[in-house]
Amino acid sequence: MFRARILVAVAEQMDSGLSEVGMLDGAASWAGERTTSERLSMRREGSAAGQVAERLGQSPEEQIRAVQRRLVDWYRREARDLPWRRTRDPYRILVSEVMLQQTQVERVIPYYEVFLARFPTVEALASAALAEVIAVWGGLGYNRRAVYLWRAAREIVERWGGRFPGERRLLERLPGVGRYTAGAVACFAFGERVAFWDTNIARVLRRVFLGPEARPGRRELDELAERVLPLDRAYEWNQALMELGARICSARRPRCEICPLCGLCRSVGTEGESRRRGGRFEGSRRYYRGRIVAVLRQHPRGVPLDELGRLVRADYGCQARDWLRGVLEGLARDGLVELAEERGEYVARLPGSEATER
Ligand code: SF4
Repeated sequence: MFRARILVAVAEQMDSGLSEVGMLDGAASWAGERTTSERLSMRREGSAAGQVAERLGQSPEEQIRAVQRRLVDWYRREARDLPWRRTRDPYRILVSEVMLQQTQVERVIPYYEVFLARFPTVEALASAALAEVIAVWGGLGYNRRAVYLWRAAREIVERWGGRFPGERRLLERLPGVGRYTAGAVACFAFGERVAFWDTNIARVLRRVFLGPEARPGRRELDELAERVLPLDRAYEWNQALMELGARICSARRPRCEICPLCGLCRSVGTEGESRRRGGRFEGSRRYYRGRIVAVLRQHPRGVPLDELGRLVRADYGCQARDWLRGVLEGLARDGLVELAEERGEYVARLPGSEATER
């Protein structure tokens, strides 16, 4: 029933979408226009660019322009008022982007505010002890992110005198800053016209432009994101893709009936992806990594290994010593924990915490 309603809506809205395109013909800046020879060369067999061009069809400019227009208009009307959308400060945007990796907006907001109240500038973060940074990161999880953020802050202060490099290619060289985060900071703080994607953006681009059966690889997604990036309004376009992916075009339940792209999308009315059967979190290695960091946060002077084992799992015994050492060595490699021998026993603590005085 719903699917039938959607298909009728598609037929109707395709017309309105294309007449909208007609009105936009003069606004060349909305589309990433290419010449015919560029389009032909993009179809080289086997290239990502060729595959994207093939899937987009022979005359995709109208669809691209209409999607750009509709999505940005929707974003202007509907965007949530989020703290990191009220600033162009690259430090604050970097903090938000790192926190938003793996964590939902609603959970991030209180941590973001507490973190910035304690470390309001990149200099404040760079000069803090790593143990304190991890402690303030608190229960946000994936504590490795705090370590990378701290290392990036130190590099910005030591190598760049506290001023952020303003281009993606330079931002990408910071510790723990990948192509996506560098793109987001370059675009949202410095206004660079740059395409980037994470799983949310990739899902929207794939569904809208390639259709439900498409399974593009990384290079194809790079090419597609570049291909549909407006010549201006990159900030709003990238924010709008994120907003749509988070609120309307979710992985499991796309809400096509209220989607601004309903009449322009190649996947309208299709089912969401089924839930991935992940392993149980409780009892997993990641679970215990989080527990260990939480315990060490409460004991800045460090905890001897066996005592730590008993604090993180009720069934701890000498048979679990090797397991505990393995988990701790992984945490130490990621910069989250320091291991030291003191008075004949091993002690674990957060990096930069005070030494044990017993
Ligand atoms: S919600 Fe539906 S119509 Fe909107 S982009 Fe996603 S699949 Fe397409």
